[in-house]
Amino acid sequence: MTAAAPRKTFTGRNVRAGCFVCHGSDAHWTSPNAQGLAARHHDATGHATWSDVYLTVRYGRDEPDARQLDIENAIAAHAA
Ligand SMILES: [Zn+2]
Repeated sequence: MTAAAPRKTFTGRNVRAGCFVCHGSDAHWTSPNAQGLAARHHDATGHATWSDVYLTVRYGRDEPDARQLDIENAIAAHAA
């Protein structure tokens, strides 16, 4: 039996959320607290809201890969 080799691991949690009434299926909140904003918007307005959470795991890297950053930048630009 060999000792476990050190393994570079990157994990990220990405959240997209919106309101079906105000924004349809487009993401309106993309910050780390997007899920909370969707819940609070529902509480305040009674609108049906949604939140999608993506867990990203990469082995052999300790940084997010560029493709993920490109996607996040595109979402942020669209939401602005
Ligand atoms: Zn709404």
